Amino acid sequence: MALIVQKFGGTSVGSIERIEAVADRIAKHHASGDQLIVVVSAMSGETNRLIGLASEISDEPCPRELDMLVSTGEQVSMALLAMSLQKRGVDAISLKGSQVAIKTDSFHSKARIKDIDSTRLHAELSAGKVVIVAGFQGVDDQGETTTLGRGGSDTSAVALAAAVNAAECQIYTDVDGVYTTDPRVVDGAKRLDSITFEEMLEMASMGSKVLHLRSVEFAGKYGIPVRVLSSFKDGPGTLISVDEDNLMEAPTIAGIAFNRDEAKLTMVGVPDTPGIAYQILGPIGEANIEVDVILQNVGDEGKTDFTFTVSRNDLSRAEAILETHISELGAMEWRSDSKIAKVSVVGVGMRSHAGVAATMFRALSEVGVNMQMISTSEIKISVIIEEKFLELAVRALHSAFGLDADEAGDTDA
Ligand code: ASP
Ligand code: MG
Repeated sequence: MALIVQKFGGTSVGSIERIEAVADRIAKHHASGDQLIVVVSAMSGETNRLIGLASEISDEPCPRELDMLVSTGEQVSMALLAMSLQKRGVDAISLKGSQVAIKTDSFHSKARIKDIDSTRLHAELSAGKVVIVAGFQGVDDQGETTTLGRGGSDTSAVALAAAVNAAECQIYTDVDGVYTTDPRVVDGAKRLDSITFEEMLEMASMGSKVLHLRSVEFAGKYGIPVRVLSSFKDGPGTLISVDEDNLMEAPTIAGIAFNRDEAKLTMVGVPDTPGIAYQILGPIGEANIEVDVILQNVGDEGKTDFTFTVSRNDLSRAEAILETHISELGAMEWRSDSKIAKVSVVGVGMRSHAGVAATMFRALSEVGVNMQMISTSEIKISVIIEEKFLELAVRALHSAFGLDADEAGDTDA
């Protein structure tokens, strides 16, 4: 008998039919003797619908009331799922964040979980019940309802798993696992049996958006094994864990991640003196703009070019900052380019394997893709390229690192 936390996302509980299908799945699992805590999202589209209603009234609704409103989405699905289980003869109870209690700070719409009281959870489980918990919501010290930020139900599930020391946190979603890259770009993308937290963070932050990023950080920190599974089709899914041991035989590269959402800015002809990077990036940081890749050219006759990338949403703000500072920096001009993309190869295996960069650069050169910027970390090499070459680059890398599914007989693909 194991204690398992399961989470069902919006599409998995998107209609009464689907809620009943989830109830069938839970009833079957419960009958095998495991204890289950089930976290639910709002029915698909519901959170957006509620936010839309609020915005019809005000551009800036009161944050407390907005949380009161959007937190109802999860309460609808939890109660319906509980009824659906009860109809099947399974003893089930639904609990709001405050009833558990999932205690958070007081930052409405982006609250962080501070502590979870597991007393009630354990009591209900011992009574033989399936406990259904509303995802995405918590309660602050004043008893006010808070929410954790869009996609926050994943984080609710992982936090609950940590609080009750669950054997596994299973995230049921509309994909059957984490893939070597986006299957919409590469036909031969494969489901990974396992991936480490570190790799998952790199994959997730760059576009393979399967899990809420904070949930992965949380799971890594507390060592909670997380499994991503499809709620529509049976299969082992992808296990995300701290365990690197079973990766000895695994390929060096776990996957190819990419991100179209970047833009590049260059300060041309700045003096090649100490402090120049700080003078450029200081005001950018003060404006709360996150900088990703940074490149400074080799100086020539006391001048150099300084290039960096930011999220495309922040481009116009960053441009305005460069424009105001250009004269005091003694630069000649600034340029920007939003038609770029970032492609990364990710894998903990590159810690112990030389030649990953060479393989990557060769593969890109063979398809004629020019790299504008390169950045590396222990488990990732990223390059900035022209956006129109993105798909070509991803396919070339996927195949260069041997990630393509076998032509025939590969059931994973
Ligand atoms: N319902 C919330 C949202 O759509 C939380 C979640 O589904 O994880 O953001
Ligand atoms: Mg989600």
